[in-house]
Amino acid sequence: MVEESAQEAAQEPTFEFPTAVGLMSGVNAPLELALAWCGWKVRTYELHGTPFDPPSDLRDPEVRKRAEADVELADVCTFQMDCSSLSRAREVKLQGPAKRIKSRPVRGDGLHARGLPRLHEKGAEKELEMVTEANDLLDWGLEQLHKKVDAKDGGLLEQPRGSYAWQFKRAQELLDKGCTDYDHMACAHGGARAKKQRWRGNIPEVGARRADCHHVHSADEWQPERLPDGEVKLQSREEQEYTAHHVFYMAVQLSI
Ligand SMILES: [Zn+2]
Repeated sequence: MVEESAQEAAQEPTFEFPTAVGLMSGVNAPLELALAWCGWKVRTYELHGTPFDPPSDLRDPEVRKRAEADVELADVCTFQMDCSSLSRAREVKLQGPAKRIKSRPVRGDGLHARGLPRLHEKGAEKELEMVTEANDLLDWGLEQLHKKVDAKDGGLLEQPRGSYAWQFKRAQELLDKGCTDYDHMACAHGGARAKKQRWRGNIPEVGARRADCHHVHSADEWQPERLPDGEVKLQSREEQEYTAHHVFYMAVQLSI
């Protein structure tokens, strides 16, 4: 009898769920949700928590240690750092009601991708702190991706195409290890506006579908808007999160 059950057990199909770690997945963790629906086990690291995991602050060395252990075991690690200080949005001259939003550029091309010299002047302490913190987090996240790529697991970095993150040496060195870019337009994946985005990683299936813009977009689609309550709405906020179309495309491509 025992022998029979052992035989039966041996015939049971074994299936291991693929695992993914989403570093800075966003509070709704849309990509991880799509992966979970596709049968993946997911773990998220996000300052304000996600439907999957409690809040975790990746600036904390203890949290980083835990994340590193999870990253090491995962099949895929995605790093979806928010681009607040890395974005070029700060360089756009704001008009109308948005003028009162004070955001001066903090980075520049080339040597200044890690911060402008003016950040060391008096009065710029807060901006310097923000940029230093973001640099440190980006450096750490890039190392995690390098580890995954070196181990022949999956590693993916997402940023807008104009982000200064692409100018970081370790982000460029991913290309030397055979990583490729999937440049796509958010609107070709169901987004409302023509936002240029990029995934860089070592999973070629991600770039299988072209996603160029063939729409007619309004010239002022990025113009800030004043809401009835007086608040100023920046359109870029609406485009911060991936669309359902995009995350399911990614989840399927990561699964095949
Ligand atoms: Zn478009």
